[in-house]
Amino acid sequence: MSGKRAIAIAKTVAVANQKGGVGKTTTAINLGAALAVLEHRVLIVDCDPQGNATRGLGLEAGEPDLYAVLLDHAPAPAAVRSSGVDRLEVLPSNRDLVGVEVELVGTEAWERRLKTRVVEALRDRYDVILLDCPPSLGHLTVNALVAADGVLVPLQCEYFALEGISELLHTVRRVQGGLNPRLEITGILLTMYDERTNLSKDVSTEVRQHFPAEVFDTIVPRNVRLAEAPSHGLPVLQYDVRSRGAQAFLALAGEFLRRM
Ligand code: ADP
Ligand code: MG
Repeated sequence: MSGKRAIAIAKTVAVANQKGGVGKTTTAINLGAALAVLEHRVLIVDCDPQGNATRGLGLEAGEPDLYAVLLDHAPAPAAVRSSGVDRLEVLPSNRDLVGVEVELVGTEAWERRLKTRVVEALRDRYDVILLDCPPSLGHLTVNALVAADGVLVPLQCEYFALEGISELLHTVRRVQGGLNPRLEITGILLTMYDERTNLSKDVSTEVRQHFPAEVFDTIVPRNVRLAEAPSHGLPVLQYDVRSRGAQAFLALAGEFLRRM
């Protein structure tokens, strides 16, 4: 992995799509784990009050968590926890985070909280920081887009995959035009691809027509190991390295690194 240590300051990527159930958390956990296996230092910040990334990595949310850090009750380094996978760490969340939107709005520069309290405080310790966003375009997702260098958009290979993407891209452009001009589209990731169905093929073809440059070559297949792994608190690479899901995320990690 020559050149790895050339990244002195973490690249920060928001995994975002306001639709739920499209594979954001699965991508954050498993891309993060694959990058860690490839010897990069990775932090996953769980920006979703549902805490799926936290629990999917086998952690119970405890104090301090992202909520405490965003409200200045604790410094970010105090909230970081080990995932059990070498070089993969987590800043956990739980339901408390719901309140953050109410408590931050009206405070000065609320859109920059995640950037200043978390990313700037931790980015010299990692090569990659992944921000697992909630299924909305609310304050937490805006905070993530302001804090990030890039946005990675998982799209489920189902009908209406593209629905809502123009709204997401509109939000990205608004952030680019104001609070974060350096924000890039890291890529669009096709997920839950089922090669037995024409639907998956049609959706994939349509998305590639719309976004030829943005779509990753790597496609994440529908794979039961990916769905099972979080209930064991493990990334799929640790749960079943030979599964197609694990192999897809290793391939994605390689492509991700080339794009960066
Ligand atoms: P989001 O974070 O966008 O809401 P998740 O990553 O939590 O989406 O995925 C939604 C559900 O689908 C979860 O139960 C997850 O385990 C499952 N899942 C995600 N990706 C796959 C896949 N490629 N194959 C099978 N199940 C998947
Ligand atoms: Mg999620």
